[in-house]
Amino acid sequence: MKFKEGDAVLIVYRDRKYLKVLTKDFNLSVMGNTLTYSDLLDRQEGEQVKGFLILKPTLEEILMLGFKRKTQVVYPKDSFYIAFKLDIKDKRVLEFGTGSGAMTAVLSQLAKEVWTFEAVKDFYTNALKNWERFELCKNVKAHNMDFMESDVEDGFFDACFVDVKEPWLYVDKLRKALKSGAPCAFILPTANQVSQLLKAIDGGFGDVEVLEILHRYYKVNPDRLRPEDRMVAHTGYLVFCRKTT
Ligand code: SAM
Repeated sequence: MKFKEGDAVLIVYRDRKYLKVLTKDFNLSVMGNTLTYSDLLDRQEGEQVKGFLILKPTLEEILMLGFKRKTQVVYPKDSFYIAFKLDIKDKRVLEFGTGSGAMTAVLSQLAKEVWTFEAVKDFYTNALKNWERFELCKNVKAHNMDFMESDVEDGFFDACFVDVKEPWLYVDKLRKALKSGAPCAFILPTANQVSQLLKAIDGGFGDVEVLEILHRYYKVNPDRLRPEDRMVAHTGYLVFCRKTT
């Protein structure tokens, strides 16, 4: 693949990474080294240009470096796991709230269709812009609406993902929207929220699991291989369950 105007480019310089869209006025200076539009145009992915490695960004890099965040987002360490755990390949998935659209972008890669609900107009518009900028989420039906006010058919969805502050308020409505046996996932930052959710799903959902994912990077030095000094120690607790009849 050769880079052309409008392409997203991941530029790696030593341990720094930059995600840019290639425009005519593109200019990146790092530690006295400058890269311009003409340096990158028609270059092959994987080439080294003036000490910069140029690559096509992966979904993880787009989410972490390219998406504008107006809300907290689900990190790839959690979102990639959730998407596979929900077993959504070629299925119809329900999501609320959309937030910045990071989790939606992951669900959309696997699912046949994602219906997502975001109550706040500004967040909804930002999510649409994020997807458009990176040509993502073509199979997503986005709704600028409180999920509580939505009119979804009973038993319409094969799976769901919920990222709102008080998910226990929506459990009855959510249950109705799901097929029997449908997997559900929730992400919550605090343990007391998890307790409250567990009480709310008791009786209507089974096979409940609570977990968190710790992700520790290593310094890439073969002679002194050891963990990085700092890590993202907490993002959220994940709760998984299945709708019972
Ligand atoms: N998962 C998103 C991502 O990865 O970008 C971030 C979601 S953010 C933490 C939570 C969002 O839920 C907020 O944008 C909020 O406005 C929205 N929200 C809260 N309650 C809602 C509801 N009842 N219906 C729709 N959206 C809701």
